Amino acid sequence: MIKTDVVIVGAGPTGLFCAHQLGIIGLKCEIVDNLDKIGGQCIELYPDKPIYDIPAIPKCTGKELTNNLIKQIKPFNFDFHLNDRVQELKNENDRWIVKTLNGKEFETPNIIIAGGVGSFEPRKFPTKSAEKFDGTSVLYSIKDKTIFKDKSVVIFGGGDSALDWAIELSNSSKVTLVHRRDEFKGAAASVNKIKKLSENKKINLITRYSIKDVKGNGSLEGVEIKNETGESKVVKADYVLGFFGLIMQLGPIAEWGLNLDKKTIPVNTENFETNKKGIFAIGDICTYPGKLKLILSGFHEGALAARGCFKYARPDEKYRFEFTTASSTIKDRLGVKE
Ligand SMILES: Cc1cc2nc3c(=O)[nH]c(=O)nc-3n(C[C@H](O)[C@H](O)[C@H](O)COP(=O)(O)OP(=O)(O)OC[C@H]3O[C@@H](n4cnc5c(N)ncnc54)[C@H](O)[C@@H]3O)c2cc1C
Repeated sequence: MIKTDVVIVGAGPTGLFCAHQLGIIGLKCEIVDNLDKIGGQCIELYPDKPIYDIPAIPKCTGKELTNNLIKQIKPFNFDFHLNDRVQELKNENDRWIVKTLNGKEFETPNIIIAGGVGSFEPRKFPTKSAEKFDGTSVLYSIKDKTIFKDKSVVIFGGGDSALDWAIELSNSSKVTLVHRRDEFKGAAASVNKIKKLSENKKINLITRYSIKDVKGNGSLEGVEIKNETGESKVVKADYVLGFFGLIMQLGPIAEWGLNLDKKTIPVNTENFETNKKGIFAIGDICTYPGKLKLILSGFHEGALAARGCFKYARPDEKYRFEFTTASSTIKDRLGVKE
């Protein structure tokens, strides 16, 4: 059991800046995110797109913003728990017990939900037979590309991820790319490259087919695909990869007994507390009159929620407002030497 002052659900820009605000007022936190990387929508949906409305930063990409937010909280050494989802909350003696999908447990007086539009989950194959190989030889993301070396890999999808991985893996694997249409959604340059690789027999390109069944007992042997007229064939495969994009699901957040308004959580704008004592909601997931789903709003909300946590984490102390420019305590916490 990990004891802490605050558990932050979500490592998007809002959760990250809120961690900074907790750090400067002297509170500890643990940050959990379902994704395998830090940054929420900025890193998952638009890492290379420039953002133009972050105060005092005329232009920065989603990735640059994330990297700077990570740098800003580095002095506090907060722990991230990635690839894990906050699943269950239970109240015991005025403390929250927070359980994750991977079995981690936290004890805390405060939870800050910075879950954006919910957890990002890959859209999976509709075939039941794919489930038994899920995570071993049927995959929806790639963590270690070396496992595919000299193997037969069947990739499904027509967007950038499917095309990019088909191109990359064609160097050292036997790649088949299957797409249900003739047209691809990915970048034109990638589509041209795929067509060239197919002409040169470096990849096996099959269009107008989709998955029917996954074959194999114990280990994966192949994948059966079908076309619109019902014809089917089996392609040998050691690995099957599906890149059909991500779905965002509110997921377990909907089960925590919080008031909900169209998949968002109403909050009190004084401190961003929800209808449950010690549970706060900030960023895209919270709602109140006039709410703007912008990163800058999330920063403000995080600053107030952090102060809201103080009274439950340090019931015997009085929170004292201080400027970072003037406070030697804050500078000590940041490790600033003058
Ligand atoms: C294409 C695009 C362009 C945009 N451009 C701009 C712009 O120019 N300016 C601007 O201000 N805003 C922009 N936005 C909006 C901005 O990205 C969002 O307002 C911002 O990301 C919200 O931050 P957040 O931290 O609240 O949530 P998110 O960034 O959505 O992060 C939430 C995180 O919580 C995690 N999570 C959810 N549930 C759980 C759970 N149960 N357990 C663990 N983790 C969980 C998710 O995996 C996710 O990583 C843009 C959005 C998009 C899609």
